[in-house]
Amino acid sequence: MTREFEGKVALVTGASRGIGRATAIKLAQERCKLALAYASNDAAALEVKALCEVAGSPLVQLFKFDVADAAACAKATDDVLAAFGGLDILINNAGISIDGLILRYKPADLEKTLQTNLSSAFHLSKAAARAMLRKGGAIVNVTSVVGEMGNAGQSAYAMAKAGLIGLTKSLARELGSRSIRVNAVSPGFVETDMTKELPEAAKTAMVSAAALGRVGTAEEVAEAIAFLASARAAFITGEVMRVNGGLYM
Ligand code: NAP
Repeated sequence: MTREFEGKVALVTGASRGIGRATAIKLAQERCKLALAYASNDAAALEVKALCEVAGSPLVQLFKFDVADAAACAKATDDVLAAFGGLDILINNAGISIDGLILRYKPADLEKTLQTNLSSAFHLSKAAARAMLRKGGAIVNVTSVVGEMGNAGQSAYAMAKAGLIGLTKSLARELGSRSIRVNAVSPGFVETDMTKELPEAAKTAMVSAAALGRVGTAEEVAEAIAFLASARAAFITGEVMRVNGGLYM
């Protein structure tokens, strides 16, 4: 342990499961104070809170809200600031995928996909940037290989994830003068709840297309997120770091 995040406060969305859970634990190991956000899974969130406390975080609190709701994002950020006295790191990780071919895709599913994966990052970055204006900070958005290369049956999800890259680069330019760095991590095929229902044929195709020939772990993605959030990445902003095992390069 290097205590890399000692004295820092991070808000991690989608912290109850998968990549967000692994990121929270990684930051906790480095002594980060943690605001862990999730949608509905209380049991999973409580488990991550306990794991983060054991891992070494001096302060962990749970924040249950829908990231697709702009007002809820603003309120949650205010609540984090009231509880922790500041905010240094925002990890926009919460996401969903509602897959389907465009000819049958429902407008309501498009709206939900865009609001949960993309607008959420806009709303939370807006609220976080205000809190970071004086001392600087780091924002890491979790996009996807699908946003970079496209995928049949995932046009809505790809739109949202490609949008996150535009948001990342624009905010990096807009907030750089305030020492707020904005980067993205773009995972490939990672074993989590999100991917466990995928048909075997789709999984096999993705594994064989990746240079490393295997799926990734949430912990491997968390390493990249933690790096970009840390002072080790002090001169990196507007970057999209691929963690995809060579699926797309
Ligand atoms: P996951 O295991 O399905 O976990 C999703 C997390 O997001 C959960 O903590 C969930 O909270 C939260 N969440 C979902 N909808 C929410 C909402 N409306 N408001 C607040 N929180 C919400 O997902 P994952 O695989 O770890 O994915 C994390 C991120 O990585 C996503 O942005 C995803 O698109 C991206 N990604 C994943 C992969 C992959 O292969 N897994 C690849 C590329 C990119 P609850 O537990 O309360 O439901």
